[in-house]
Amino acid sequence: GGAGDAAEGARRTGFVRVRGAREHNLKNVDVDIPRDVLVVFTGVSGSGKSSLAFGTLYAEAQRRYLESVAPYARRLFNQMGVPQVDSIDGLPPAVALQQQRGSSTTRSSVGSVTTLSNLLRMLYSRAGDYPPGQPIIYAEAFSPHTPEGACPGCHGLGQVYEVTEQSMVPDPSLTIRERAVAAWPTAWGGQNQRDILVTLGHDVDRPWRELPQELRDWILFTDEQPVVPVYPGLTPEETRRAVKRGDEPNYMGTFSSARRHTLHTFANTQSASMKKRALSFMLSTPCPVCGGKRLRRESLSVTFAGMDIADLSRLPLARLASLILPYAGGSGPDAADDAHPEKAIVRQRIASDAADRLNVLLDMGLGYLSLERSTPSLSPGELQRLRLATQVHSNLFGVVYVLDEPSAGLHPADTEALLRALDGLKAAGNSLFVVEHDLDVIRQADWIVDVGPAAGEQGGEVLYSGPPDGLREIEISQTRRHLFGAEAVIPRTPREPAGWLQMEGVTRNNLRNLDVRFPLGVLTTVSGVSGSGKSSLVSQALVELAAEHLGHAPVIEETDEADPDAVIAVGGRIAAGMEGISRLVRVDQKPIGRTPRSNLATYTGLFDHVRRIFAATPAAKKRRYDAGRFSFNVAKGRCETCEGEGFVMVELLFLPSVYAPCPTCHGARYNAATLEIEYRGQNIAQVLGMTVDAAYEFFADEPQVRRSLHVLREVGLGYLRLGQPATELSGGEAQRIKLATELQRAQRGHALYILDEPTTGLHPADVEKLVVQLDELVSAGNTVIVVEHDMRVVAASDWVIDIGPGAGEDGGRVVAEGPPAEVARSAESRTAPYLARVLE
Ligand code: ADP
Ligand code: ADP
Ligand code: ZN
Ligand code: ZN
Repeated sequence: GGAGDAAEGARRTGFVRVRGAREHNLKNVDVDIPRDVLVVFTGVSGSGKSSLAFGTLYAEAQRRYLESVAPYARRLFNQMGVPQVDSIDGLPPAVALQQQRGSSTTRSSVGSVTTLSNLLRMLYSRAGDYPPGQPIIYAEAFSPHTPEGACPGCHGLGQVYEVTEQSMVPDPSLTIRERAVAAWPTAWGGQNQRDILVTLGHDVDRPWRELPQELRDWILFTDEQPVVPVYPGLTPEETRRAVKRGDEPNYMGTFSSARRHTLHTFANTQSASMKKRALSFMLSTPCPVCGGKRLRRESLSVTFAGMDIADLSRLPLARLASLILPYAGGSGPDAADDAHPEKAIVRQRIASDAADRLNVLLDMGLGYLSLERSTPSLSPGELQRLRLATQVHSNLFGVVYVLDEPSAGLHPADTEALLRALDGLKAAGNSLFVVEHDLDVIRQADWIVDVGPAAGEQGGEVLYSGPPDGLREIEISQTRRHLFGAEAVIPRTPREPAGWLQMEGVTRNNLRNLDVRFPLGVLTTVSGVSGSGKSSLVSQALVELAAEHLGHAPVIEETDEADPDAVIAVGGRIAAGMEGISRLVRVDQKPIGRTPRSNLATYTGLFDHVRRIFAATPAAKKRRYDAGRFSFNVAKGRCETCEGEGFVMVELLFLPSVYAPCPTCHGARYNAATLEIEYRGQNIAQVLGMTVDAAYEFFADEPQVRRSLHVLREVGLGYLRLGQPATELSGGEAQRIKLATELQRAQRGHALYILDEPTTGLHPADVEKLVVQLDELVSAGNTVIVVEHDMRVVAASDWVIDIGPGAGEDGGRVVAEGPPAEVARSAESRTAPYLARVLE
């Protein structure tokens, strides 16, 4: 048949042939993409690169794979939709290494992701040094996650948690009614416990510290759970009488001591914030049995190179590699172990396997990580490279690896290592499809697929597909201008700082007692190789200390799991410079919302104005529709079938549930009566369907709406639809929406803006727009500090602080500081040569 011939043809010619791709904004795209080489997908943000590489090619490969899998197993996959495409021929199986949006949820570590921990456990079990007379133990006994290995004192956690009167009752001058027992639940749950104590005849209106110790201990620590009648709303005196009379209570309440409640919540809750709250009433101390090493004594008694496995897992990978390398070569201090020749062989085999794996990780610039480092604490770029390094060792071939901006978070010096790893995968006989903005990576491509010409509806076409050089001829391509144009930036005169923010004694991760100053009223870039300490300094220490100064609640990162390791106090203080700062604004890449109920229009506040405009139309006034009527989150105006979601979930037997457009409103989200109201011939659902650009024309007479739309266009988001759900936005888009929301506030000056790698996901053309926006913030009297690798941003800033010189233990110092031209001349800075290149 025809399809079979086409498939055979594609296989022979070595091309993946895509016909009629229409996913998201793709305009019925036909394109042939070669296999077994490095293909880079380029184009401005929102042009459709990911829709082609991930949404079409990877999704189709996954769909085919899943067809061969038993239905119940399909549920285990985070399945993507069936792509909108006519046909794809010649597509090999695909592995996606996508950057995670939001934090990773699994409680894994560098050692488990890379499988190096397994290897070390084997090494200790089979070739470790045992104390005389101790029998050999199995590899599992070296894992804190198994019953054989876990320390009995802490169940493998390394920490023991306890609650004390002080930790649960922080302010003993309060009464129970005033919530002295802070560890009890807030809201109803806490009132319930109070009412139970009233029934039991205890005084809830005396300051905690005046209650008898015996009673306090009982309330906090008892395991008893008396069930008593509860009379909410009655005074203690009235309750006493009601109990005496045997009045019918509202309900029977069960008492739970504060300790019981706290420990139970910590162990059982599914909610990250509840867990975090419980943790805040607990004190943790290193386990006295294992000293925090999480393993049984017998397991810790086995050593390799003189160290137990816990100590070895804490070493930076670079040190671990240099320690293991001699054994891999068959030498090593105790290599001539004549008594156990078989042990020596096993040791050499495992050590050389581990050394190979470690080398790939070092090559990837990850030598500063340790095996025990938890993956939720890694940046998305670090995690992606970790998984990439693991793949290099998987010995797969004939596979397409689909990658999403692997250079994110990488200093130009690190990017070179990344390219070597990609080469390794290619040499092993694999195809690489990479979505990337970094010019250094694009230059290494064997083949470029350039998507554009612009974003959203103005994009979605393949402008060019071929070897890089041919892109020179494609005048409509934005990539062409940056790839072949002059890279040097226009020299500018740095602005003068208005003052200095001085930090002293900063200690955190690899920063040790660091003194550092940030200029005020200018644009500062903090640069350095990845792992040098930029985020520790800026996104962690500076953010927390500045927030503390301003009296905000300390900013707690939202992780899906309460990670006890993440609760580290930061050492250091801000010695001067905060007088001139009234507000701290952190513009990060976290999603603007986790449900389709929040979107661009709701997040920016733009939708409030739009709803008021609709409520002010004569037709709405006549029907007495207020602004709330035009919210899809409010019952009166929304479609009742889908409760304003626009789609309904369809449960399928044995398959993941799918979302289908709502049969009543067909995705409009509103009920028919609401949709009858029109403003300039368009109803509210049609307005939500407009792009920012279209809405800008449409609301020509509404200055407030226009202002918001104007800034959104300025940050390059004119292509987004107003109602685009938060869940469909990339991290970079979310970050620019936050930036635009800040910009439209037009607050004059005195704010401190902190951005961590704002160019992630941005095409060079979009980077230029971003720099203009940051400049405007500075012109309005604000201070802007960015952590950034893009040398054009570094060159365009007024001041540069270069952290390093290396990563981890080799970093954490200020290597160079000053205006860009000055830092570019530093002999010690690893940023200098790359910066000099764009400045010349
Ligand atoms: P790029 O990778 O080039 O930045 P994308 O392929 O992510 O671009 O996006 C192309 C267009 O498709 C954009 O207009 C974007 O807003 C839209 N889009 C992306 N993801 C989705 C989605 N899940 N649903 C609907 N539209 C989407
Ligand atoms: P950069 O931002 O320059 O890439 P980071 O500040 O993220 O560097 O990291 C600096 C050092 O601190 C690295 O050695 C890194 O492994 C370590 N580090 C960062 N975050 C954590 C953490 N949550 N727990 C332990 N070590 C960390
Ligand atoms: Zn222990
Ligand atoms: Zn509906």
